[in-house]
Amino acid sequence: MQPEEELKQIAKEVSVCTRCALHHSRKLAVPGEGPVNAQVMFIGEGPGFHENEQGRPFVGAAGKFLDELLASVNMKRSDVFIGNVVKCRPPGNRDPLPEELEACREYLERQIQAINPKVIVTLGRYSMAHFLPNAKISSVHGQAFKVRGRLVVAMYHPAAALHQQSLRSTVEQDFARLPELIQQASQAMQLEEEKPAEPRKEPKQLSLF
Ligand code: SF4
Repeated sequence: MQPEEELKQIAKEVSVCTRCALHHSRKLAVPGEGPVNAQVMFIGEGPGFHENEQGRPFVGAAGKFLDELLASVNMKRSDVFIGNVVKCRPPGNRDPLPEELEACREYLERQIQAINPKVIVTLGRYSMAHFLPNAKISSVHGQAFKVRGRLVVAMYHPAAALHQQSLRSTVEQDFARLPELIQQASQAMQLEEEKPAEPRKEPKQLSLF
């Protein structure tokens, strides 16, 4: 299946998915949105009230802040793919449960395969844990890791910065590093492509760039 068709197929599947209890609180599933050839993929936690109403990611106050952060590094929402680790709204915006994260995991993995981004930016603890299960966000935010052959940058969720003013400048500083990290990822990928093929090795679980 072509990547674009695969993204549409995933959106179709999540709109009627009953794999976990979150489908009970769903008005509209939020599969995520953005161009299939996006170089950067932002992954948040789960839809909130407005996202559940509109079926679109990051459309509330946190989304507005995310737009500002993107603009601060000369990026636009239409340049990037934005999604979440769970596609349906946890009731009352509670944290997603382990079984809900596990049930939804395959959709996110398929989206990553289809988009094949150079850089994945995780927004918040649950998204970070998908790639860096043993990391603490207070220690690793703003840093880049190579995980399963991709560059993963961990950041605080924009909503956390809205609720806790002291985090705002941290999030802004972490975002300011993104262009440089994307550039590094592009160069690393070019080098990989130019290297002669080697026998397949087990990937390193986690290595700091
Ligand atoms: S959160 Fe994910 S796994 Fe659960 S019902 Fe929604 S789409 Fe399905």
